Amino acid sequence: MLSSITTFKSSSSILLRSLSSKFTISKYPFARELGLKETNLGCFTGKRWCGSGKKLISLNPTTDEQLAEVYTTTNEEYEETVKNMEEAFDIWADVPAPKRGDIVKQLGEAFKSKKESLGKLISLEMGKIYPEGLGEVQETIDVCDYACGLSRMLNGTVFPSERENHSMFEMWNPLGLIGVITAFNFPNAVLGWNASLALATGNVCMWKGASTVPLITIASMKIMEKVFKQNGLPGALCTMILGSGRTVGEKLIRDKRMKLISFTGSTEIGRHVAEVVHTDFRSTILECGGNNAIIVCKDANIKLALRAILFAAVGTAGQRCTTTRRLIIHESRFDEFITQMVKAYKTIPMGNPLDSTTLLGPLVEKKTLKEYSDAIEAAKQQGGKILYGGHVVTSRPGNFVEPTIIEIPHDAPIVHEETFAPILYVMKFNELEEAIKINNEVPQGLSSSMFTNDLKNLFQWMGPKGSDCGLVNCNIPTSGAEIGGAFGGNKETGGGRESGSDSWKQYCRRSTCTINHGTKLPLAQGIKFGDN
Ligand code: NAD
Repeated sequence: MLSSITTFKSSSSILLRSLSSKFTISKYPFARELGLKETNLGCFTGKRWCGSGKKLISLNPTTDEQLAEVYTTTNEEYEETVKNMEEAFDIWADVPAPKRGDIVKQLGEAFKSKKESLGKLISLEMGKIYPEGLGEVQETIDVCDYACGLSRMLNGTVFPSERENHSMFEMWNPLGLIGVITAFNFPNAVLGWNASLALATGNVCMWKGASTVPLITIASMKIMEKVFKQNGLPGALCTMILGSGRTVGEKLIRDKRMKLISFTGSTEIGRHVAEVVHTDFRSTILECGGNNAIIVCKDANIKLALRAILFAAVGTAGQRCTTTRRLIIHESRFDEFITQMVKAYKTIPMGNPLDSTTLLGPLVEKKTLKEYSDAIEAAKQQGGKILYGGHVVTSRPGNFVEPTIIEIPHDAPIVHEETFAPILYVMKFNELEEAIKINNEVPQGLSSSMFTNDLKNLFQWMGPKGSDCGLVNCNIPTSGAEIGGAFGGNKETGGGRESGSDSWKQYCRRSTCTINHGTKLPLAQGIKFGDN
């Protein structure tokens, strides 16, 4: 009897609490499935969940509703986490690489089993449309698969030695503890790129997610934690911290126990990370801002180009590092192309990113609305003519803006900046050399694409005097890269490469090993030193 009264009391108090709560996360079944509550802890030390730091509020960018609260990581909790990571590394570094690969594969399978719920959560908290949320989780699944295969191919080269009875080869060993700092716009996939390769190569990670999307970070961490537990492995193979402001991130980048900081975010913060980490001669992978262009040549397939530009300029509400921000069109096709673009922009359905008909969701937070308006104002003052859009949407809640097309001179200062919103600057060119020069004249160097069917144009674009970006495409958008290639950019984009190709090497220390298995001591270059 007593127990049923207690049960009644506690369930009614839960009911009362949820009725009176200002947080709405519990009304989303997919969020409950991912273990999220109205109050969440923002630190996973590898052994426990905690969070005694300041409170973050997760907001829905579509409706402004408060989704949940998250308690951030304190300095003491950070220290406890690093201690656990050191213990975990001791165990993990001795696990054979293919066995580590098997665990990473299981991480991929775990993400696959939660793909729909996590995809919906990404849509809800970050604001990208649901198909893109699903695509983001798929990227993590794919890269886990890739890292599993890679775990049997962490090859070093064998070199012929110039000395008799000597052997030379290269060994790739893990670095140890690695800090992974991610941007708000790919809150799951960027973790996936880094954690999969870092773990397969024998490292352990501390992940700091962006404070605007703490629930995605927590949900992703919970999925990984379960896999480590099921395999009897230390939870601190991958840990998680969250901060408000810059405090805990700053602690992470200054921590000399972190041998590598993999940073994804703005060029401004990336520059600061580089200064701090390189002072101690530690390594970085920097994935910073982009300012990506598409060149539409005279011979381009206009229909194809139009579809690609719509996806790359408007998709994710212009909040991809690879979003097309500059469109350089051959003057003979300019008017025809712009007429079709404006027509297409008028039909883009804006709304709740979880609705299947929506193509344009909100920006992630309120402060970006001002950044959008300021950029448009600056463009107008610098000779820009608005061809479509240009306004913040005030008729509904949330952080919505009109997708915008502005005709403007290629060298207007605002065109050389990255504004993280759906603003597309359009300009004309005559000779191909001129278009490539415009592509290369900005400080960033992430992604670029050319629409042409002319082989001469194509090889000029990809050759020594072509695009100076890390991603050089033809007849596809600037955004939407596959995981098999090395992803990243040059110049102020930071020079880092993640995901495919030989990116895994950045998570390793390389040793060139020379072994004398004879009884003499010949010296390299034939040097004679005493009796040898
Ligand atoms: P941001 O620079 O504001 O934040 C990125 C991350 O850094 C966040 O986790 C943030 O909390 C953290 N941070 C902030 N100050 C820090 C400090 N002092 N020390 C340590 N960490 C700190 O970027 P954002 O607004 O989250 O993301 C948008 C930016 O990211 C854009 O510039 C975009 O181009 C870039 N981005 C680049 C890539 C790429 O692969 N090149 C991918 C995604 C996003």
